[in-house]
Amino acid sequence: MPVIVQKYGGSSVADTEKIKRVAEKIVNTYKNGNKVVVVVSAMGKSTDNLINLAKQVHDSPPTREMDLLLSTGEIVSVALLCMAIEKLGYEAEGLPGFLAGIRTDSTHTKARIRAIDTRRILEELKKGKIVVIAGFQGISMEENITTLGRGGSDLTAIAIAGALKADICEIYTDVPGVFTADPNIVPDARIIPVISYQEMLEMASTGAKVMQSRAVEFAQKYHIPFVVKSTFIDSGGTMVTEVDFKEGAVVSSVTLDEKQAKITFFNVPDKPGIAARIFGALGEASINVDVIVQNVSTSGYTDLSFTVNISDLEKAFEISKTIGAELGCKSVTSDNDIAKITVIGLGMMNHPGVAARMFKALAESNINIEMISTSEIKISCIVRKQDGQKALKAVHKEFIK
Ligand code: ADP
Ligand code: ASP
Ligand code: MG
Repeated sequence: MPVIVQKYGGSSVADTEKIKRVAEKIVNTYKNGNKVVVVVSAMGKSTDNLINLAKQVHDSPPTREMDLLLSTGEIVSVALLCMAIEKLGYEAEGLPGFLAGIRTDSTHTKARIRAIDTRRILEELKKGKIVVIAGFQGISMEENITTLGRGGSDLTAIAIAGALKADICEIYTDVPGVFTADPNIVPDARIIPVISYQEMLEMASTGAKVMQSRAVEFAQKYHIPFVVKSTFIDSGGTMVTEVDFKEGAVVSSVTLDEKQAKITFFNVPDKPGIAARIFGALGEASINVDVIVQNVSTSGYTDLSFTVNISDLEKAFEISKTIGAELGCKSVTSDNDIAKITVIGLGMMNHPGVAARMFKALAESNINIEMISTSEIKISCIVRKQDGQKALKAVHKEFIK
C-alpha cells in the first residue's frame, strides 16, 4: 500500500469549516487505498497570536517556555482535525511532535531535527489508522519541547516523508503551487510546473515563504521530492525535485523579502581582523548575516553595512553596538525600513547582463538601490521598504514574459 504524507498549512485549517474540508480530503486519500500520514500547522494566525501573548508578559521571553507555548498551536489543529476525521467515520490518531518521535537538538525556537523514531507512526498505520502529526515541533535529547523555526511544519512533513520513505509528499497551501513571483502581489505571476531543489532553495531563502528554506535544504540533501498544491483548488501543482538544467528562461523567479534590516558601522578602522571580529561575534550568536557592503576607505576609516533577518535585529544590534564601542567607531545604526528584491535562475550562469537589466528596470520605476549582492544564480538589491512591491512587479515584468 502506498504511503502518502500530506501537509496542510495554517491558512488551510484557519477555521473549523476548513478543517472539515481538509478532513474530507484526507479521508478520500485513505479510501483510495493509501496509508495516510498528515502534518498540520497551527490554525490561521495563531502562532503570531501566541507570540503576541508572550510579548505582553515578557519583552524577551525565555526560549524554552516560548517553545512550550508555540507548540500548543499545532496541537489544537491536530486534535480538531482528528475529531473531524472520526466524525466522518474513520479512525485517526493525533500525535504531538514528541509522540511522533521527532528528536531535535536543543536550539530553542530554531531547533534542528536530529532523528525520527518512526515506531509509533508505523504502529498506528498498521492498525489501519490515519496518523495526524503536529508540525513545527519536536523533543530535544534533554526532553524539552522544541520548535523548528517559522514555517517549520514544512520541515516536519519533508523529514517524515524521508523517514517513512513515503511514495509521495504533498504540501497543501493557499496558492496552487510555486509561482514566478508571489501571486498575491504580482497578478501576472505564472505557476512553475517543475522546479529544481536549488532554485526552490534560493527562492525560499530570499523571501518566497511558500516553503521554509530549511525544509527545502533537507529535501535536497536526502533526495525527497515533493509537490506544492492548493488545498481547495484541484488544478496546478509544482513538483520540486532534481532537475537537469535545460537552456530556458535566464531568470526563473523573482522574490521579495520584507523582513530584512540593515546595520551600519560608521568610521570603522580599516585594518585586518575587523570584519572577522564583527561577523565572528554575530555567528557565535547564531545570527545569519546576508548582504554585506564595505565602502572605499578614506584616511584609514571605512563604513560597513550588512543585513540580517528582522527577528535577529535586536540581538544583532546589541552585539554590534558593543563591538562598535570597542573598535572606536563613530556610530552604529540600525534601519528596518528596507526590503530585498532578488532575481533567481540557473540560466544566469551563462548569461551576462542580467544585473544591468535588473538595475534598469528599477531605475525606470524610480527606485533607488542601496546595496547589491550577487552569486552565480541570483542577484539581490536592497531598496526602501515602501518601494519593495513596486520593485517586485517591475523586475518580474522585465524578466518573465
Ligand atoms: P501555509 O500556511 O500553507 O504554510 P504560507 O503562508 O507559509 O502558507 O505560504 C503561502 C504563501 O506564500 C502564499 O499565500 C503566497 O502569498 C506566498 N508566496 C510568496 N512567494 C510565492 C511564490 N513564488 N509562489 C507561491 N506563493 C508564494
Ligand atoms: N505555525 C508555525 C508558523 O506559523 C509553523 C508553520 O506554520 O509551518 O510559523
Ligand atoms: Mg508556511
